Amino acid sequence: MKRRMRLNMPTKPRVILLAFDGFPLHAFREATTPNLWQLGQAGGLSPDGGTTGLPSTTYPSFATLLTGASQSRTGIRTTAQKPGAVPGWAGGNRSRVPTLVHATLEAGLSATVVMGDQKLQQVLVLDTIERAWPPTAILPEGTEVDAHGYPTNAAVRPHALQAAADSDLDLLFIHLNETDTLGHDLGPSAAETMECVRAADRIVGEIVEALAPDWDRTVIAVASDHDMVRRLPYPTIDPTASLECAGLVDDWIADGCAAWLRLTHGVDAHMAISRLAALDGVEGWRWREPDVLLLLAAPGRTFAAPWIPVSGIHGSTATDRTLAIVGGGHPAVAEIGASIAARPPRLRDWAPTLAGVLNIDLPDAEGVNLLSGDAVSA
Ligand SMILES: [Zn+2]
Repeated sequence: MKRRMRLNMPTKPRVILLAFDGFPLHAFREATTPNLWQLGQAGGLSPDGGTTGLPSTTYPSFATLLTGASQSRTGIRTTAQKPGAVPGWAGGNRSRVPTLVHATLEAGLSATVVMGDQKLQQVLVLDTIERAWPPTAILPEGTEVDAHGYPTNAAVRPHALQAAADSDLDLLFIHLNETDTLGHDLGPSAAETMECVRAADRIVGEIVEALAPDWDRTVIAVASDHDMVRRLPYPTIDPTASLECAGLVDDWIADGCAAWLRLTHGVDAHMAISRLAALDGVEGWRWREPDVLLLLAAPGRTFAAPWIPVSGIHGSTATDRTLAIVGGGHPAVAEIGASIAARPPRLRDWAPTLAGVLNIDLPDAEGVNLLSGDAVSA
């Protein structure tokens, strides 16, 4: 997209993109997340959150958040990594589009990432940048990991705070994963998950404190990749298992409450859709390509897979909302805040917006720059 230079930048801007994996959106309220709440009250927020694309899962959402490009452009369409299927008809496993971080470095500015998911770091091709934590997406020995093998928020925290205190950085991407792991294992409303949310919010408070000396030139955007719902005790959905759907599907990949299906060559797509959509537990579908469908499960239902989280799941329209908060003392904050208060931002809008603040090009982005007047009136 075209870059628009509408602001007179008083000083060199400093941009922080802070993202929570699987943040349970219902937990964003003053009593539970006072620091996030305060940030949004002083800056701006989307009252009902922003939106992500479908499937509402980690890799597609983060690829879109960091590039501003749709799944068809990034090639990242699923978080499931079925051997032989990704890469292939269901997309790739490394983004084809450079991220905002790459574009910032390309422009000669300084940027780093601090991430609580080393696999996501590889998907975003942020394992190759010079300065990152973990370095080259390999966890340093002794790093505390959660039940899914990802760094705990406590392990990420010192690196995030150190980077936040570095006033030479133009762009900092911080990713905190632990809410996702606890939401999956214990449920999005479990006491332990809520405690994790509170602890994550305390880290937000510390990050804000570390940014304080440069507050006037800071823009901090807070997002998440998807929401989480409780898994209900119903059978999983296998779109190839019913007699009515026999032979319709050539290959498929479950991605939580969504599933990518490739129709068998020669099958009538309309007939196939009507039968697949009638399966017990299927709530909706999207027709992405002539022979590729995305099936969506009803809330609480999930597709059959080798591993399914016990308590919390995501992937369908029930979990396509995200945190959408902006803070900081930079003049752009008020304008972005007004935009997201008027219209829920899509994940793809953040990268072009932050690129606009940094005054760098992001030619592959398809989202809108929320700093433009068009975004407010849209
Ligand atoms: Zn996620």
